[in-house]
Amino acid sequence: MGNRYVVIGGIAAGMSAASRIKKVDKGAEVIVLEKGEFISYGACSMPYYIANPDGDYKDLIVLTVDDARDKRGIDVRTNHLVLGISPNEKRVFYKELISGKEKSINYDRLVIATGASPVKPPIPGIDNENVFSLRTLNDGVAIKKFIEEKKPKKAVIIGAGYIGLEMAESFKESGLDVTIVEMLEKPMPNYNGEIINSILKTLEGNGVKAYFNTTVERIDNDRVITTSGEFEADIVLLATGVKPNSKLAKDAGIELGVNGAIAVDSKMETSISGIFAAGDCAESIHRITNRKTYVPLGTVANKQGRVAGLNAARELARFPGVIKSAEFKLFDKEVASCGLTLNDALNEGFDPVEIVITASSAAHGYKYKYPIQVAMIGDKKTGKLLGCQMIGKTGVAHRINIVATAIFNGNTVKEFSMFDLAYAPPFSPVWDPVLVAANVLS
Ligand code: FAD
Ligand code: NAD
Repeated sequence: MGNRYVVIGGIAAGMSAASRIKKVDKGAEVIVLEKGEFISYGACSMPYYIANPDGDYKDLIVLTVDDARDKRGIDVRTNHLVLGISPNEKRVFYKELISGKEKSINYDRLVIATGASPVKPPIPGIDNENVFSLRTLNDGVAIKKFIEEKKPKKAVIIGAGYIGLEMAESFKESGLDVTIVEMLEKPMPNYNGEIINSILKTLEGNGVKAYFNTTVERIDNDRVITTSGEFEADIVLLATGVKPNSKLAKDAGIELGVNGAIAVDSKMETSISGIFAAGDCAESIHRITNRKTYVPLGTVANKQGRVAGLNAARELARFPGVIKSAEFKLFDKEVASCGLTLNDALNEGFDPVEIVITASSAAHGYKYKYPIQVAMIGDKKTGKLLGCQMIGKTGVAHRINIVATAIFNGNTVKEFSMFDLAYAPPFSPVWDPVLVAANVLS
């Protein structure tokens, strides 16, 4: 008999782990227990699926249950809700949601990849039928169906974070009038002020009304009542952050860490030997500060899942940590960041300096070129490159990855300013905007 591995959760981290295990330990039995009806879907594409009149939710599914079984040899059981874990017995207790039967299964090694859930602030009216969160594929399908069937005209989005901003564009594309209400004084509060101003101008230029320092008091059937006024709302989207699904682990005696996420070492192993955790339910280590952090991103979940799977299958692998690289589209702008913000750097005891430049996305003589704003942060003491944020119409989303590579590798600003980057007039000036920023900073 081969080893039996049980994986809880079948999206980014869970399926990455399961696939790796099966690659390394070919004779193993790999069972994925997933409470939902879908596995392995790209939640990140939901704002664009919702806005696309021809959008089909099936296009978001990367791997079906049948393909997982036939092509990868993984036994995926959907509609299976895990109720508990007994590390002493090496046993997982679950409920088959269709039959209602409760069962259990033993494991040799376990991977917890239970993800995260939307934060639902205690606002009266939050359970009204026109109030949605956006996390699962079912959430995305439900929002699209509501828009198509009920033809709402006015949307209020609560929260101006990643989902709030992406969905402002999505709702506008669907023809809705959009108002955002945010409790903090600005969106992306730690970003450089000039980049934030560009985000605000982009919202305004696209007809999105945004209210900051605003508390939501109540949601009525057709309006949202806030400290900044009452806003008509045929549909309300809650985009108020996520929290890790770590209760199963906690109840099993596994230690929790930062932000209530499951504590793990660099092998993604939890405080109980032989039990691994990965993705939005688990913490990460920050490469620059060396401190534990919580970064609920698909990029991180896939890599952590792979590392957890490899170690579960006894092939040594280490998760190298994160530098919080992230990007999003806001109407005609690309917005991206990596590393520490100025505030983060100050809080971490660095001696940071930040500069902001505006440079062109393409060479002077090239017809199609747009300004890119770059905010770059370095440390005066060590000369290290610490962080970067950018906004512009084109050439931002991939350019941030050049800076991310340098920060990931611990380069100084001076080293980075001489990186041998490629150049041709349609793609950049001879001194790329990120090199110009580094030269100004050094
Ligand atoms: P999840 O995707 O949350 O999957 C966990 C699974 O575990 C779920 O299917 C859940 O049903 C299952 N589960 C939980 N508890 C149990 C239980 N008790 N029993 C059985 N099953 C259980 N990230 C990016 O990097 N870039 C982006 O552009 C981006 N855009 C996004 C846009 C949207 C709208 C959303 C919602 C997220 C976006 N993300 C993005 C974040 C990314 O989707 C997540 O980081 C990623 O899905 C995390 O994967 P995961 O496998 O850790 O967790
Ligand atoms: P978020 O943490 O990005 O933003 C939540 C926002 O809601 C914050 O600005 C917060 O101040 C605000 N908020 C919280 N409670 C509030 C309240 N009661 N009233 C008004 N405002 C309130 O979270 P999100 O937008 O829900 O997205 C969840 C996670 O999904 C993100 O943290 C991110 O990791 C991931 N995501 C990433 C991308 C991307 O990388 N492009 C896109 C979408 C989602």
